[in-house]
Amino acid sequence: MAYLIDVLVYISGFFIITITANFNDVLWNGDYEFIDLTYPFDNSTIYWMNSLQFMFNNKVAGFQDDGSWFAMNDFAAGEHGGTHMDAPYHFKADGKHIGDIPLEKLIVPLIIVDVSSKVNEDPNFELNMHDLDYRLNDNMGKPCLIVFKYGWSKFINDKTKYLGMTKNNTFNFPGMSEEVAEWITSSHKNVVGIGVDTASVDKGSATDFPVHKIFANAGLFNVENVKLDLPVPEYGCTALILPMKIAMGTGAPLRLVAICPKRTS
Ligand SMILES: [Zn+2]
Repeated sequence: MAYLIDVLVYISGFFIITITANFNDVLWNGDYEFIDLTYPFDNSTIYWMNSLQFMFNNKVAGFQDDGSWFAMNDFAAGEHGGTHMDAPYHFKADGKHIGDIPLEKLIVPLIIVDVSSKVNEDPNFELNMHDLDYRLNDNMGKPCLIVFKYGWSKFINDKTKYLGMTKNNTFNFPGMSEEVAEWITSSHKNVVGIGVDTASVDKGSATDFPVHKIFANAGLFNVENVKLDLPVPEYGCTALILPMKIAMGTGAPLRLVAICPKRTS
C-alpha cells in the first residue's frame, strides 16, 4: 500500500519526480478493492430539518416513436444531507468553499478510528481523550482523512433512531468533545478532514456546533453520514473524497470511496 500512496504523492507533486510506475498497473493489478462509503441519494436520504430534502423528478422515461429509449431527470437538494462534505466556509467566513478545496486534500490516506464498542449504541456518547489511544498517531506526517466509526450506520434506515429525534425536534447521537477536536487540529496538523458515521461531527445534542467551528477554523473539511456498515480496514486504504464541485458551496453531496488492499478471508 505504501507503494500506492507514493505514486499518488508523485502525481500531486508537480511532476518533479519522474513516475516510473504506471498508476493503472498498480491500481488494477488485482491487489486492491474499491469500497463505497456513500449512501445513495433518494427520498430516504437524511437532511437537516431546514434543508431542502432530496427532490428527484422523473421528467422523461420511455420509448420514443422510433422505438429508442430516452430517460432524463431533474434533481434538487440542500448541500447538507446524505453522505456529504462540509467546507470550512460552512463555519468560517473566510474559509474555503467546496469548489476551492484542492485535490491534494481529496485523495489521501484513510484512517478509520473504530470506537463503536465504547459507544455501545448510547446516543448520548461523547468521545473524550481517554477513549482514544495510540491509534491516531500512526499516520503522523502524512495528509489523511480520519473517520470516526461510532457504529451508527446500522440505524440509517430509521431516521428517528439515527438522529435520536425527540418530540421537541432535538437530536441525540454520538459525537466528539471539543477537547478531542482541539487535540486533532493542534497535534495532528497532517489531518486534512474528519469523517463520522453520524449526521454531524458535533454530537447530536450540540446546538452551537463547537466542533464544526474548531475544524473550520483549522481549515479542515468534514465528511458526514459516512456509510460504514461493512468492514473497512482501519489502515492502509486510500480515500477518494470527491464532492460535487459547487463553486461557492458551504457543503456538497459527496462520493466517498476507499481503495483498500484486497483482503483474503
Ligand atoms: Zn454538513
